Amino acid sequence: MDAEPRIWLTRPQTDESEIDEIREVLASGTLTQGPKVAALEAMVAELVGTTHAFATTSATTALHLSLVAAGIGPGDEVLVPDFTFPATANVVVQQGAVPVLVDIDLDTFAMSVDDLERHVTPRARAVMPVHPFGLPADMQPILAAAERHNLAVIEDAACALGATYHGRQTGSFGLAGCFSFHPRKSITTGEGGMITTSDDALAERIRLLRSHGGVREGGRFRFEAAGFNYRLSDILAAVGVAQMRKLDAFLAARRRVAGWYDRALEGVAGARRPIVLDGSAHTYQSYVVLLDESIDRDAVIAALRADGIETTLGTYALHDQPFFANAYGLRPGDRPNSHRAFTGSLALPLHGGMVEPDVDEVVAALRAAL
Ligand SMILES: *Cc1c(COP(=O)(O)O)cnc(C)c1O
Repeated sequence: MDAEPRIWLTRPQTDESEIDEIREVLASGTLTQGPKVAALEAMVAELVGTTHAFATTSATTALHLSLVAAGIGPGDEVLVPDFTFPATANVVVQQGAVPVLVDIDLDTFAMSVDDLERHVTPRARAVMPVHPFGLPADMQPILAAAERHNLAVIEDAACALGATYHGRQTGSFGLAGCFSFHPRKSITTGEGGMITTSDDALAERIRLLRSHGGVREGGRFRFEAAGFNYRLSDILAAVGVAQMRKLDAFLAARRRVAGWYDRALEGVAGARRPIVLDGSAHTYQSYVVLLDESIDRDAVIAALRADGIETTLGTYALHDQPFFANAYGLRPGDRPNSHRAFTGSLALPLHGGMVEPDVDEVVAALRAAL
């Protein structure tokens, strides 16, 4: 095994407040979904500005539950950006529907609306825009295309809790928004997720399907659907409550580190800095640079690792992965921008525990590696 890095890609930020919250739950005896889940849901709904929020075991189960509740099933097509974590498309496959992989714009890494128009068919029922690395996708043209083609919008906002687009929080634009509480995201519960929605009918379906399809009646349940158990434990929700109180501070710290990178990388040839669209606020779930095509990104990762600095690729091009290539007859490069981002993107260390000299050290090592 490699030695531990000196500068980690990511480190979750926790203190005594999470432990105090957990202690309360253990003392209460309610360890499944309970008051801490309700408190966490209320905090997220208030932040995002939706009338409902539903905690789940992950963003993946949040996305799956949203699709099921929206009635997506066999024969349906769902437009998904090709450059994303596979969970976004896997949940479509799990519903027996077809993920239609859409290329991205290289400047933002977000779904290209022009390519969406090229791939939309009469079978398309939904679109799942991703806010890549916490940068809000340009929602105006996506919402307009969704309206034109009568598509439900389910935002994969896994990286984007606290991101804003023209004054509105991500996760509030579509029929539903889905967040992740994995340790690399804005806040963490270890594993966990959340669905936000202001659609009352969808909310009812989600409430039913999240917990076995059962409706409580007297002291027992009446089972109305073949539901799931996607409930978050109150032990984990307690961690989330403590984390939510610190969200503003977490985001401020991440944006501060990103600002140091923006400055330190100015004029570094071969590494393009992330952009932020006018009217948007980025969470910097990751600080992802795009290396020039002539540069061997994996060699850069190895060189930085030898220097004690942990970095990784941005994320995956789905059409380049064996499952999607085989299932849908795709070849490497069929989504050229996504392919280019998959092979040329580099996520630099970014977490709230970093100080400016860490950033300078990363950039100096990167400059040497380039
Ligand atoms: C992290 C992530 C997911 C998966 O989140 P989990 O909570 O780990 O299930 C899905 N989509 C995107 C874009 C992500 O970054």
